Amino acid sequence: MEVDTERQERYFIVVRRSKKGLSRGSILRADAETAAGDLIGMVYGGGGITRSSGSVKKDDTYPLSRHQAQLLLFVSPASRRLELMCNVQLFSAVCDLTQDDLVVVKHKKDFQPCLVKNLVQVGKDKPGVLQMLGFELSLMEGEEDILLKKTVPLPFFSAADIVQVVPSHSNTRQPLRISSDLGLNSKAVSRIYSMPALNFRNAKKGSTFSNKNVSNSIQAMSHYSLEVGSMAEVISLNGLTVYGVIRWIGVPDGKKNYWAGLELDNEVTTCSDGTLGTIRYFTCEGNKALFVPLTNCKPDSRFLFISNEIQKPLEPPSVTLLEDLDEDVPPVAEQDVLSHLVGRMRGIQGHFNSCYLDATLFSLFTSSIAFSRMFNRSADSEEGISHILRRDIVNRLRRSGFVPADSVMKFRKQLGCKSFATDEKDPEEFITLLLKHVLHIEPLLKIRSRGELSQDAYTHQIIVEKNQMGAVPSVQQLLEMSLVSSDLKFGEIPSCLIVQMPRFGKKFKMFPKIIPSTELDITDVLHCSPRECFVCGHLAEYECGQCLMDHKLQPGKIKQYCSTCNTQVHTHTSRQEHTPHKLTVPDHLPEDASIQRHQMQLFAVLCINTSHYVSFVKYGADSRSWIFFDSMADRCGDDNNGYNIPVIRSCPEVGDFLSQSEEEISTADLSQCSELVSRLLCDSYMCLYQRTTHL
Ligand SMILES: [Zn+2]
Ligand SMILES: [Zn+2]
Repeated sequence: MEVDTERQERYFIVVRRSKKGLSRGSILRADAETAAGDLIGMVYGGGGITRSSGSVKKDDTYPLSRHQAQLLLFVSPASRRLELMCNVQLFSAVCDLTQDDLVVVKHKKDFQPCLVKNLVQVGKDKPGVLQMLGFELSLMEGEEDILLKKTVPLPFFSAADIVQVVPSHSNTRQPLRISSDLGLNSKAVSRIYSMPALNFRNAKKGSTFSNKNVSNSIQAMSHYSLEVGSMAEVISLNGLTVYGVIRWIGVPDGKKNYWAGLELDNEVTTCSDGTLGTIRYFTCEGNKALFVPLTNCKPDSRFLFISNEIQKPLEPPSVTLLEDLDEDVPPVAEQDVLSHLVGRMRGIQGHFNSCYLDATLFSLFTSSIAFSRMFNRSADSEEGISHILRRDIVNRLRRSGFVPADSVMKFRKQLGCKSFATDEKDPEEFITLLLKHVLHIEPLLKIRSRGELSQDAYTHQIIVEKNQMGAVPSVQQLLEMSLVSSDLKFGEIPSCLIVQMPRFGKKFKMFPKIIPSTELDITDVLHCSPRECFVCGHLAEYECGQCLMDHKLQPGKIKQYCSTCNTQVHTHTSRQEHTPHKLTVPDHLPEDASIQRHQMQLFAVLCINTSHYVSFVKYGADSRSWIFFDSMADRCGDDNNGYNIPVIRSCPEVGDFLSQSEEEISTADLSQCSELVSRLLCDSYMCLYQRTTHL
């Protein structure tokens, strides 16, 4: 009977906001379908209670099995149902959960490893009502010993509470199913699958892995060979999964079994720098070396997940659902970046020469506010490229912290020229295309040449001669020199200023090191903006490019003078050949008016090293709020069957380094600095600045 019903009943979840009033995440049992493509049926509210009959366009829905519908119904608010479905792999694993599977749930802001005990039916069982399904879980042993005395029984968990699944791989593996003889009792909660009490004998206190079921799960997965260099994961005592690379395998002093030494992705306070006891087995950064029995390690599930994905392309829901998310997701807030973004398999996944694009998109959209408003202005069709960018890349990056390679490829294929989907391109070419043809933004820079309007641009290429600058110039100095020596000015303050470093082709760098100024003062390169005389501080009327590098006059600083000082400075014999330009200054400005400075903040630096682009992003106001992103930091598998592993690292040391004076930075011994500091200083390709709101 149950089976028949299941076949006839068709369930759908509303993925697009409906004109007829059904909100996203609503679940509908369709009883009929009209010729126009409308589904008509029962809409279920919270608690499985039939709210009303309703109709919705079939295009705005995604089909569900009855079991899925019941699991999702217990998830609230309804928008979380869609989030869960977006994670296709996790959702399907949750739907297939069986007794004794190990899951990690988010419980009271904590991550808790649990075993699945039962599938429970929540709510009264009445005809015409769709019962919600939840999970009854038991705490892992060890955890239970500690918590038993002071905690009440665990609540029932919804499918969306489960953040990770480790199948038990037991021989008797049967998905939890509603059995047909559990009929129409009216208890608020019915246990659908009655299970014997779990056996916790021989418990070893404090060990998360002493439970037989868990060991089984791990052993079941150990046919994936783990060796030195393998990426592995371990569930730590507090229930969080930690990830790392196996750096050492062997039998440590005083142990009998094989152990693994992992270098973790992130620091854990109780970890070492490669020593166990008094013996060093390998060397890594402090607080990153974790030693555990080899049987406690299993292959990094995030990559198993991806390799499955590659074999079986993603089912439509991930795309359908994300396409629907029509609200703009704001940039990732400073306080959320470390938990939300940092780690392996984070950011934008690189694929097939895409690093130029990954690094650029990551720089522009992760946490910068510069382009937040641009999306709202652009308007093209539902399937247009700007919508793909917004929904499948930017919103996804900000919401989930990870954009799979196929989303990026979908976007690349729409960029007009086929080579954008295949070749390594220059970021500036991509930025112009992106801003002009995808987002339909006016050129960011209004350039004036000798006071006259000149061509507009999206980026500014620094053009200087090497002998005009010091050995380690800053972006501030380069920009001023580049503009002054060509007599160019910005017509207005740009919302975003993208500066290309003086380097040509992939290899030639004019300067081995460039200091990425964290603040760029553009007051002196603005057209018709009041400026101070370099000498006396009065309103300046002349500017002299040749004075800029004069060794007697604070070389590297832009020089402008009032007419008195201009005459005086240029009476010096060494400067008589100079040709100062007259500045355009605003009319009617009192001579002693205070002059407002205009500053822009560095928010990202794109770097290139042997034709591979990576990016540094300053994600907040704190000087140490820096992350590093590489869309191809690591790779799993070979060239043909593998995939790239994008990695985001926190690098506060970059902020510390840049907080020093230019003098200290230019003389710093890079061999004593972290690798990332050195890359930032030596490999910069493009520096991105934004005007912040308080200016
Ligand atoms: Zn003066
Ligand atoms: Zn001069």
